[in-house]
Amino acid sequence: MTQGVVDQASAGKADTTSTPTKYVYSFGGGKADGNGRMKDVLGGKGAGLAEMTNAGLPVPPGFTIQTESCREYMRGSVSPKVDAEMHAALDRLEKLQGQKLGTGENPLLVSVRSGAKFSMPGMMDTILNLGLNDKAVEALAKLSNNPRFAYDSYRRLIQMFGDVVLDVPKKKFEHIFDTIKEREGVKFDYELQPDALKEIIVEYKKLVRKETGKDFPQGPLDQLVQARDAVFRSWQNDRAKTYRRINHIDDWLGTAVNVQAMVFGNLGENSGTGVGFTRNPATGEHVFFGEYLMNAQGEDVVSGVRTPLSISELERAMPKVYDHLRAITWKMEKHYRDMQDFEFTIQDGKLYMLQTRNGKRTGLAAVRIAIDMVREGLITQEEAIFRVEPNQLYDFLVPRLIEKGEKIEVLATGLPASPGAAVGQIVFTAEDAVKFHANGAYRTIILVRGETTPEDIAGMEVATGILTSRGGMTSHAAVVTRGMGKCCVAGAGDCTVDEHAKELRVKGHTFKQGDWISLDGTTGRVIAGQLKTLPAQPDDPDLVKFMSWVDPVRKLRIRANADVPRDAKQARLFGAEGIGLCRTEHMFFAEDRIGHMRTMILSENEKDRREALKKLLPMQRADFLGLFKAMESLPVTIRLLDPPLHEFLPQREDLLVEISHLEDTKPRSPKLKELRPLLARVQELHETNPMLGLRGCRLGIAFPEITEMQSRAIFEAAVAVKSKGGDPHLEIMVPLIGSIEEMRNQAAIVRRVAADVFKEKGETVDFMVGTMIELPRAALTADQIAEEAEFFSFGTNDLTQTTFGISRDDINHFLPSYIKQGIFKQDPFATLDQAGVGLLVKMATAKGRNTRPNLKVGICGEHGGDPESVKFCHKIGLNYVSCSPFRLLTARLAAAQAALQEIQTGPDIHSGTC
Ligand code: ADP
Ligand code: MG
Ligand code: MG
Repeated sequence: MTQGVVDQASAGKADTTSTPTKYVYSFGGGKADGNGRMKDVLGGKGAGLAEMTNAGLPVPPGFTIQTESCREYMRGSVSPKVDAEMHAALDRLEKLQGQKLGTGENPLLVSVRSGAKFSMPGMMDTILNLGLNDKAVEALAKLSNNPRFAYDSYRRLIQMFGDVVLDVPKKKFEHIFDTIKEREGVKFDYELQPDALKEIIVEYKKLVRKETGKDFPQGPLDQLVQARDAVFRSWQNDRAKTYRRINHIDDWLGTAVNVQAMVFGNLGENSGTGVGFTRNPATGEHVFFGEYLMNAQGEDVVSGVRTPLSISELERAMPKVYDHLRAITWKMEKHYRDMQDFEFTIQDGKLYMLQTRNGKRTGLAAVRIAIDMVREGLITQEEAIFRVEPNQLYDFLVPRLIEKGEKIEVLATGLPASPGAAVGQIVFTAEDAVKFHANGAYRTIILVRGETTPEDIAGMEVATGILTSRGGMTSHAAVVTRGMGKCCVAGAGDCTVDEHAKELRVKGHTFKQGDWISLDGTTGRVIAGQLKTLPAQPDDPDLVKFMSWVDPVRKLRIRANADVPRDAKQARLFGAEGIGLCRTEHMFFAEDRIGHMRTMILSENEKDRREALKKLLPMQRADFLGLFKAMESLPVTIRLLDPPLHEFLPQREDLLVEISHLEDTKPRSPKLKELRPLLARVQELHETNPMLGLRGCRLGIAFPEITEMQSRAIFEAAVAVKSKGGDPHLEIMVPLIGSIEEMRNQAAIVRRVAADVFKEKGETVDFMVGTMIELPRAALTADQIAEEAEFFSFGTNDLTQTTFGISRDDINHFLPSYIKQGIFKQDPFATLDQAGVGLLVKMATAKGRNTRPNLKVGICGEHGGDPESVKFCHKIGLNYVSCSPFRLLTARLAAAQAALQEIQTGPDIHSGTC
């Protein structure tokens, strides 16, 4: 669970202690050089093998080449001691087994397995049956009296070695295999007869010769060295790199290499191989869970070629082996005090353990297992809090696909932009979505777009899920759907979205409007047809119990970003302790308001503008009324109008097109009279760089009547709620301040209107006026600004934009190159850049509190729901974080973990100063 924490001391650097580095650690014969705590050195797999050996479990013997060798390999100079120690360890292994690698009547065969500190399932490579060659295979056939087994093992070696070590495309091996299998007319691999297998081997060897210009290496030691180096290299393959980036694993850790005597699950009907979990990894249920195949080897179980049997079958088929396996895995779970994921092989009725590790699990399972283990006395309540990753709690808030027993066809895999599941009928435009939703033609709708724009909002609102063929994790579709808690698969590049023909073409299928598809936003999969779903479970009793352990621990308050009463109610359901950001402009996009908003913007003078604002006032007041009621006495932070005005107007290009179309077809249309002045004003308002233009507090300074109207709506609503016995707590926030003067200007208007309203109504309410800090200049002069501002809320989205000088909407043009070249470890809009933007936050907080010691400080924006960023906010002593309602559980858990970590390790000595 500590995947994100990288041990810098052990990463990337050579051992600097005076004792010389030990490169190779043996295990076998009931004892091991290493143990389970040595994951840094031995990798997770190697440490597990050592630990199991020490515990007297049946583990095939072998040795582990430690991670430092891999780091040396990456640096380009491997110590000669690695080879020397490896040969010595091989010697010991050969003596222990009474065999010699790939030689003699009873040749030793080994597996060469990767295994890093953090498990990276399937990301790196493993080679089985190493040591076999043309001669050894005959010896094995004779010894086992089972030529089918011997040739099968050899063809597997050539295939794996060819793929992993020699870079011969896997597909070419598969083609040979499938052609001969088809010719032989057999259904399963194990039905192939020795002669057919021999023929496959001949063809495989020819392929290797053709592709590499060399013969498949016959020398067992030569094979071993090449395989070892290939495993080192596999640390650097693209899959592994991507996995590390997503999981924040340091690129310099390196992998260990495990060389282990083979045991054979493909020896016949009395042999087999399998994988399992000590508890159900999907639900957390305390039942033994797993699958196996008889007469099979290695990955056969998971490769989907044959349907594996449930582990409960094993109880019937081989009761002794089953009991032994249960006893061992139960012991391992108690030993590691966590759910175990294990691999085993049965050779001729005898059980061998090949791997054990803490099992990966869904959020639902993580919570259930944590609670069960506390009840069973295996772990403490505090430990339980760390057994769930904050992001996993999302699983409780979104529906999921039911896949069990379904045959699913994955059409494409895009980015898992917003988790959950969506099953629905597809439409291609926002208008169609709204139309078919309103007339009830489609019950659930999936909006399919090339990419979405702000104009699609209404359609996104009524859709159950969104699929786009372009765009990244911070694309419009991704950001908006995450806020809505709605499933989204973005950037599914294999999908062709023909908005014109209203067709989705993918994998040779054509889907038309109304066809059913299913989306899994948690994995990014696009699936054909109509799967069933399991609804969200925010009131799941296990979750409620778990959160009752979490909440008392944390110090940070958690608020939600919510603009309308519906979101506010949802937020309270998910545990919000206030609203940290109410974006008032969201209220203006509604159909009945946008007209008035446009009239206001198009007004040429103050008088007309005030007229239009008057129409908006009652609507805005009604919104606040609902919001204050929903939040009762919890604090509500309301931000004054922020976006550039053109966002409320039609696009210039669209207007130009419409006008010229009308001029051509209906030159007398009265509509033209309406559109021409609109275009003129749109042109007037056009800005070269709206992000840095007339927006934020600049609007309220240029047009004070806007701030006046908004303040009036707020205070009238608050007074109304209070006179009915309510107790609203208002925090009015001025956006995009860069100087104390701006703050003073706007705060004066707010306070003046408050006084007016209180006098008119004969009632007062408590309120604060504060600011969003989202410009570097505001952070730098925070001590001054705090003279006027009674609270700070860091708008870290804009602060990231303005600190880096990068527009959030344009980052996708270069983010991939930045990530690939390691310039950015992650998207700074998703995870707060602690060194730069974070430093500004820390510094401004300190400066602000210098002026106003009990200044209330929080952050709002995407970062408020990101666990790493939340932990940072705890560390630097903020009062709260505010995030979208669907991130609340995550933020609550992250804040609790941060508080506990601090107790365990002491406060961060660096956080007090800056
Ligand atoms: P991964 O890390 O991808 O799981 P592993 O190194 O665990 O890769 O190996 C892949 C497969 O090969 C697993 O099913 C494992 O059980 C099997 N395997 C590895 N070493 C041996 C061995 N010495 N004898 C038999 N099977 C093995
Ligand atoms: Mg494994
Ligand atoms: Mg902003």
